[in-house]
Amino acid sequence: MNNNLIYKNISLQKYTSYKTGGNAKLFAEPRSYLELAEVLKYAKDNTIPTEIIGGGSNLLISDNGFNGLIICMASCNKFIINKGDNSIIVGSGIILSEFITYLINKGLSGFEKMIGIPGTVGGAIKMNAGAYGAEIKDKCVKIWVTDLDGNISLLSNDEAQFGYRKSLGINDKIVLKAEFLFDNYDINKLQETKHYILEQRRLKQPLHKPSCGSVFKRPEGNYAGTLIESCGLKGYKFGGAMVSDKHANFILNDDNATSSDIKAIIDHVIDVVYKEKGIKLEPEVRMIGF
Ligand code: FAD
Repeated sequence: MNNNLIYKNISLQKYTSYKTGGNAKLFAEPRSYLELAEVLKYAKDNTIPTEIIGGGSNLLISDNGFNGLIICMASCNKFIINKGDNSIIVGSGIILSEFITYLINKGLSGFEKMIGIPGTVGGAIKMNAGAYGAEIKDKCVKIWVTDLDGNISLLSNDEAQFGYRKSLGINDKIVLKAEFLFDNYDINKLQETKHYILEQRRLKQPLHKPSCGSVFKRPEGNYAGTLIESCGLKGYKFGGAMVSDKHANFILNDDNATSSDIKAIIDHVIDVVYKEKGIKLEPEVRMIGF
């Protein structure tokens, strides 16, 4: 094993947008598929539990960290290949907003409403990220993935089994790259949409404090934020964490919160909303080490 690829006892705080959480017992940030394959082989040969992270913008990592190997994909496959027929192949490590800006500048439409979603393309595919009515699945043609044994396969959009903030066909797999097919559109109009969406995000979301974006999925026929607000939980605090008073579906790392503070609020919100409204909120945020 190339010892330069796997590090011991790495704090995961700087790898998540929440800026909380403990250490990974082992940590790797491969820059290519070959490095990833080497890391995966090491984990398999030594039966090490493994978790994948991208940009860490939808993650809550336990204060006890993770007693295994964290593979961060944010530096892997950082390429965009323009095939010239509105079809683009993009590596999983590209930052989603950078990809969207690239598309807008090429006059390619489909993802402009998703501008401002943090994280990587790989994380966005895994989460089927979306905003303002647009989702990753809308333009995704095929996805190259590997399983934890290093076997690569190619999934169609159907095989990925995209759903609301999930992709069942990608469970237990690592996204390596994907092909998307976009529509031609006027660059100025795409720019206008981009600025409008970024302004809406600034107006409606508490972007001044660390968070994971929306903590809970939208329940059928309702909005998590509206339910939480109507239970009087806006501004609710525990330790250093707080339900945003701007957008109730955001739980903020307000003041040196621990992951336990944030988790305590998540549990409290689920409890209160269930008791008062009879609706069981489901976290959108992915948790590691709990
Ligand atoms: P991570 O948070 O690192 O991981 C998320 C999940 O994806 C984990 O299960 C992880 O194991 C998996 N994963 C990551 N990379 C890979 C890979 N290469 N292969 C396989 N699995 C992988 N989300 C929305 O959908 N819409 C929004 O409007 C939105 N707004 C947000 C606003 C803010 C301020 C913040 C902080 C977050 C917001 N999010 C939103 C949540 C988050 O940005 C998205 O879920 C994003 O797509 C996660 O990408 P990531 O690379 O950060 O993934």
